Amino acid sequence: MADSAVENIDVQPVNKKENRALFEKRKKIQPKKARGDFRRLKWIIMAVTLAIYYITPWIRWDRGEGAPDQAVLVDLARERFYFFFIEIWPQEVYYITGLLIIGAISLFLVTALFGRAWCGYSCPQTVWTDLFIFVERLVEGDRNARLRLDKAPMTASKLGKRVLKHGIWIVIGVLTGGAWVFYFADAPTLFRDLFTFNAALIAYSSIAVLTATTYVFGGLMREQVCTYMCPWPRIQGAMVGDETLTVTYHGARGEPRGPHKKGETWENRGHCIDCNQCVAVCPMGIDIRDGLQMECITCALCIDACNDVMDKIDLPRGLISYDTYAGQFDANPNKKLKVRFVRPRTIAYSLILALVAAIMLFTLLNRSILELNVIRDRNPLFVTLSDGSIRNGYTVKILNKTHDTRRYRITAEGLKGMQSWLQLDGPQDHDLVVIVPEDSVSSVKMFLSAPADSLSSKTEDVDVIVTDLDTGQVEVQTTSFKGPDK
Ligand code: SF4
Ligand code: SF4
Repeated sequence: MADSAVENIDVQPVNKKENRALFEKRKKIQPKKARGDFRRLKWIIMAVTLAIYYITPWIRWDRGEGAPDQAVLVDLARERFYFFFIEIWPQEVYYITGLLIIGAISLFLVTALFGRAWCGYSCPQTVWTDLFIFVERLVEGDRNARLRLDKAPMTASKLGKRVLKHGIWIVIGVLTGGAWVFYFADAPTLFRDLFTFNAALIAYSSIAVLTATTYVFGGLMREQVCTYMCPWPRIQGAMVGDETLTVTYHGARGEPRGPHKKGETWENRGHCIDCNQCVAVCPMGIDIRDGLQMECITCALCIDACNDVMDKIDLPRGLISYDTYAGQFDANPNKKLKVRFVRPRTIAYSLILALVAAIMLFTLLNRSILELNVIRDRNPLFVTLSDGSIRNGYTVKILNKTHDTRRYRITAEGLKGMQSWLQLDGPQDHDLVVIVPEDSVSSVKMFLSAPADSLSSKTEDVDVIVTDLDTGQVEVQTTSFKGPDK
């Protein structure tokens, strides 16, 4: 008989290490509610991440007249990404690449330090599954009640609970899909349009797809998404080392395990009373006592469950705790956690992270709101005019990234006696001033001509200079001027 203060649970891990197949029919996992510091931390992280996801599209950000006032917006129609004070154009997609690199390296660093902390606390699959289990527990009760309900024949009460649970899950799915589409259009306008059936078909279909995936992944598939669909558990093996902090069962202290009666000695036996509480709370259906496993998302709920047991049987906490691989062989229950956060791997990840972040910050702070692109005509390469001078044609594209109409003067330098003019739709214009509306690109045809004797070779460099007449900002692009063989 086990210690009377602790309920012994007859539970086998669903994902047993030695019996693991590449793919097998899902055995339903009914995790028990855990109580403790890590459970509280997970509630807090869940509340914060869900709040960020649902509230962000409703935050306003004044960018001036004519510009969207949504703080975070992927504006597909105007091909722009707005993130508070940052506005990214399609040609600046390298910022997105930079952000993805920062995200990936951060994930490597966190994994090297704390194992799969991302998976256990803040991955959307974990957060939404936790939310779905919370709803399930509210409607159908904790683990034992749910197991009884699963086995019970279908009655009106069981049907009512099932309908209510799945109904709430679908509502969460709709809200999740609904919040997602608000990132792609002005949220208040789209909200109105959705309810008056004036929104685009893509908005309704996106909500439908995301409702279905949220419901299936969070409600039905749960741990299978992590085990079979996500590549990260396989990749993380390369990031985890002997010194990585991860959820660890201290076998040297816990074994030999076995039931324990109140008042019995702890001599010649381990501290694990084989109560299976750590298995019962595990959302992945594994037994942490089998060692480090691919399925373990390091949610630390087994730490809470075991600490609770240790409190009840008056033993020191930490039979399961965050520790390193080496630490698990220390049988001393009062040992101090020894972990070396600064090591070659974490230094390398931190340096790469700092370098990419510094490059991103530098380019962002020095980002130009005016862009110039000069393309020289290839056909013909040049024209010899009746007075003997040489003429080249160019297409000049000016990108005005501001939210005001701007006037730009175009000049060119590089050859003695060079003349420049614009050929707009009307007659030739020698005052090279171009008006570019806000948030847009204007393209003009420009011609340069130079006396033949000003060219010392058949290709000369010339600078095309664009000056913002309102701010004085200047952009220069060097291009070539072609002439006959010398
Ligand atoms: S490790 Fe802790 S929670 Fe798990 S069976 Fe042993 S005593 Fe119980
Ligand atoms: S073994 Fe523990 S840390 Fe790992 S998934 Fe299960 S409860 Fe979470």
